[in-house]
Amino acid sequence: MNLSKFSKLPLTQAMLQNLDTLDYKMMTPIQAEALPAVLEGRDIMAEAKTGSGKTAAFGIGLLHNLDVKKFRVQALVLCPTRELADQVAKELRRLARFAHNIKILMLTGGESFGKQLGSLSHQAHIVVGTPGRVLKHLNKESLSLEDLNTFVLDEADRMLDMGFMEEVESIMKFLPRYHQTLLFSATYDDAVKAVAHKLLDNALHIKTTTEETPNDIEELFYKTDDKLSTLINLLGSTKPKNVIIFTNTKFEAKELSEKLVTRKIDALALHGDLEQYERNDVLVQFANSSTPILVATDVAARGLDIKALSMVVNYDLPHTKETYTHRIGRTGRAGAKGVALTLYENFEEEKVAEYKEEAKRQFLDASDIEEVDSFEMTPEFVTLVIEGGKKDKLRAGDILGALSGEAGLAGSSIGKIDIYERQAYVAVASDDIDRAFKYLKSGKIKNRKFSVWTL
Ligand code: ADP
Ligand code: MG
Repeated sequence: MNLSKFSKLPLTQAMLQNLDTLDYKMMTPIQAEALPAVLEGRDIMAEAKTGSGKTAAFGIGLLHNLDVKKFRVQALVLCPTRELADQVAKELRRLARFAHNIKILMLTGGESFGKQLGSLSHQAHIVVGTPGRVLKHLNKESLSLEDLNTFVLDEADRMLDMGFMEEVESIMKFLPRYHQTLLFSATYDDAVKAVAHKLLDNALHIKTTTEETPNDIEELFYKTDDKLSTLINLLGSTKPKNVIIFTNTKFEAKELSEKLVTRKIDALALHGDLEQYERNDVLVQFANSSTPILVATDVAARGLDIKALSMVVNYDLPHTKETYTHRIGRTGRAGAKGVALTLYENFEEEKVAEYKEEAKRQFLDASDIEEVDSFEMTPEFVTLVIEGGKKDKLRAGDILGALSGEAGLAGSSIGKIDIYERQAYVAVASDDIDRAFKYLKSGKIKNRKFSVWTL
């Protein structure tokens, strides 16, 4: 592997120090190959495996090239889903900590348009968004890209497929003639390769997938005529800590999660029919171990970086091999081990044959799996929501202090704390939830009372 230090790059001391604080010691291969060219201002079309640090590969570059004193949008990052935009904005904010006043604004659908207008009137340096909403602001002239330097398409092959291409092309009409274009993805299909050149100018093509050590994901395929009981047997025999199960339809995501819950296997569904706040609640609960199972459609297939995800299950065979790569890439991230299980039925044999070209994949029969009697999967934590967030200057330390101090909870009973603009989420061990809830309902955090409820 091509490991090298960030200090090889012409970055400022402040940026290098911040990377060190984030514990980014060495560049990942895609960062090592892309960053020198990104810093020079070249166009790039990059392909690197899932979980390989692509966000920082464009993020460090666009932050370095930013003129912080100039309060104009200088970089635009487009993502296929709101969740991904949220995650990219978060990573950029972490990377931007080397300076005090870099403003990163999210513009995604499902959020109040009026509120976004308000934020835009205060200007921003970087916009991260989904194409529909960004285009709407451009058409209404509430967003100007006249001073844009860097245009990024994350999950570029999705952004350039038929679903998004038209909007992306319309957005590009608002860009200044000279700008840098950066495309990043784990896969590109031929159709996308053919349209990509329309966006690029003398681009550097980078593909690190051959030099990267492949993700350590064990891939098992099971032929079955009863997917539900096969799934339950697999969960019962492997007892994973957390799993994402992919279905092909929203209906099935909903239905399967309900079926699992009636069998005392705790699960939540994530799909496009949920309101934005519901999607956020679900993702928070999954990431903080308040539910061991997420049953999701492909809205969750791309990009989502959930730390230490032990297993991915394809309950339905994905429609394309690219989707398979993205789905299973949610596990085995940043050097960790993962397991990917795929269920298929007899009539899908022909489609599954396409997956047999990779020798490491194993093809098994569900009848070989041990039958499990009865087992339960219960969550480790319960999520408490506190109606107060960044705008109330609430910090993780304040919540931790209140719960471990006056409420008397052990440190190990308090899990992940997520603080948003107006709300905070704290994971509390199931056994201690009543105590934590009672305390927060009557007691105070930072000498203030906040409403609380559990999810
Ligand atoms: P990708 O977009 O390639 O799927 P991400 O950008 O989401 O991957 O990064 C995956 C994880 O790796 C993130 O949690 C990120 O914080 C971490 N990461 C990125 N670059 C580095 C680095 N140089 N050293 C250590 N961790 C890193
Ligand atoms: Mg990514």
